[in-house]
Amino acid sequence: MIVAERKPMEELLQMTDPFGKILLVGCKGCVTVCNAGGQKEVGILASGLRIARKKEKREIQIDEMTLERQCDPEYIAQLEEPIKSNNYDAILSMACSVGPQFIARAYGDQIVMPALNTCFMGGALEHGVWAEFCQGCGTCIIHNFGGICPIARCAKSLMNGPCGGSAGGKCEINPETDCAWHLIYERLVQLGQLDKMRSVFMYKDWTTSRDGGPRKIVREDLKQ
Ligand code: SF4
Ligand code: SF4
Repeated sequence: MIVAERKPMEELLQMTDPFGKILLVGCKGCVTVCNAGGQKEVGILASGLRIARKKEKREIQIDEMTLERQCDPEYIAQLEEPIKSNNYDAILSMACSVGPQFIARAYGDQIVMPALNTCFMGGALEHGVWAEFCQGCGTCIIHNFGGICPIARCAKSLMNGPCGGSAGGKCEINPETDCAWHLIYERLVQLGQLDKMRSVFMYKDWTTSRDGGPRKIVREDLKQ
């Protein structure tokens, strides 16, 4: 999933300061799973913003909505009616950063702001702890590395590691992080594939990665 976290309250107060009527929109997708921007978080943020305004003795109207997803025009269309009938000053999106961009794309005359910082693609290691597992390079090669991604999980994205700085199974860049190459080694031992450590990974196909600009997937079989 996409892992995100809410922006600091100070930043959100500053961002919303010029506006008196705001539509706060959550998302039931990834950001609900990582407790950053679901219905519950929409309620908490709306209350926080209202209380802050009350303390300043300034009026604010915050309407709350949570869409199934904000990365799909079908659900973004559900904002049309409330936007038309309420004349909002701004929309504050609690989705990953795709959400506010999709809303802005659909409602060109609306000011749209992100309430979250979108961080990475990953998963929950335990309750309340998420870690990065993939950088979306577009050509997955983890089968060469015992199923562990050296791009996302090694601080130096080494494809022929380890770098030599690994100590006690931890990464020299951040001792709280497992060395990806230590994990790869352990996994290859487990799989009886340790001979793979001797092979040199010659090159990675980066043509599918981010470096060529924004990417697009076109599925002719699904296009209408
Ligand atoms: S190799 Fe690429 S697609 Fe596969 S996990 Fe790593 S970054 Fe993601
Ligand atoms: S210590 Fe391990 S994870 Fe850290 S940079 Fe070196 S090889 Fe990569």
